[in-house]
Amino acid sequence: MSSSSTDRPTYATHREQLELRFRNATLTAREHLTDDYVRVRLSGDDLRGFDTPGHDDHIRIFLPDGPVSTVEEMRAAPSREFTPLAWGETHDGDAFLDLEFALHGDDGVAGVWAANAPLGAPIGVGGPRGTLRVDGSPDGWLLAGDETAIAQIRRYAALIPEDAPALIIVEVRNAGQQVPIDAPVPVEYVHRKDQAPGTALAAALDTLDEDDRPGEDPFVFIAAEQAIVKTGRALACDRWGLDADRRVIKGYWKAGDTEFHAPH
Ligand SMILES: Cc1cc2nc3c(=O)[nH]c(=O)nc-3n(C[C@H](O)[C@H](O)[C@H](O)COP(=O)(O)OP(=O)(O)OC[C@H]3O[C@@H](n4cnc5c(N)ncnc54)[C@H](O)[C@@H]3O)c2cc1C
Repeated sequence: MSSSSTDRPTYATHREQLELRFRNATLTAREHLTDDYVRVRLSGDDLRGFDTPGHDDHIRIFLPDGPVSTVEEMRAAPSREFTPLAWGETHDGDAFLDLEFALHGDDGVAGVWAANAPLGAPIGVGGPRGTLRVDGSPDGWLLAGDETAIAQIRRYAALIPEDAPALIIVEVRNAGQQVPIDAPVPVEYVHRKDQAPGTALAAALDTLDEDDRPGEDPFVFIAAEQAIVKTGRALACDRWGLDADRRVIKGYWKAGDTEFHAPH
């Protein structure tokens, strides 16, 4: 019997479509959390009212290489998918949206923009067009990913009660790249060093068996380079027997692919 068919489910997940909105903003702050990981703040009146009723979603950012004067020009700019991390209004009443970027050299529009765009640079924000809501409290959690999933892991970690069994596993390049993450349990960082992306995370997930399952009816989130999907499914579907509404397992990027579109 799968976990989600137990008599007393402690939670439910719901997918909701949201009204798609497009907003203009500008880059107003940048903070390096490690050499290869930055948090940026976007600001602008268009961001007033930005919100999502759910816990797992993404926006599409549009990155023109200079000022644009029309929405059409902005929409024609290169775009990529990112996770809204925090949003609202500052004490001064300025609307903001914070995002975090894994930097990965010179070969990506978004990574290069996050590292180098001058303060004041324009950016377009589309969405989120859908969201996943977790209602109630899973009796255990597994959150696992590489740097690209840290923003989403932060959002899920904020839902975990202090006493819930939880595993949080994050792959980074080395000890110097461990991005601090607030969570009610210690985060286990694994280091890929010179191996292919996802190798260290996959090895960590492969060691988990039935006895390591956190709780009877846990929620699982796994996202990293596309190859992690096979490993994630082997754990969550085959070894832990979780139904589709108990797991999110996604490739957030694909080695060698520019502007990878994750299957939704
Ligand atoms: C739902 C969702 C949410 C996401 N949220 C975030 C987020 O909050 N923060 C975040 O950093 N990323 C996030 N990503 C991943 C991000 O969209 C991709 O990494 C994207 O490809 C980055 O765009 P780019 O322009 O920098 O690189 P691209 O132009 O798309 O790719 C250029 C080259 O860089 C490679 N590449 C892309 N990303 C990486 C990487 N991380 N490490 C090494 N090589 C890479 C590609 O394989 C390609 O060869 C998310 C993806 C999805 C699907």
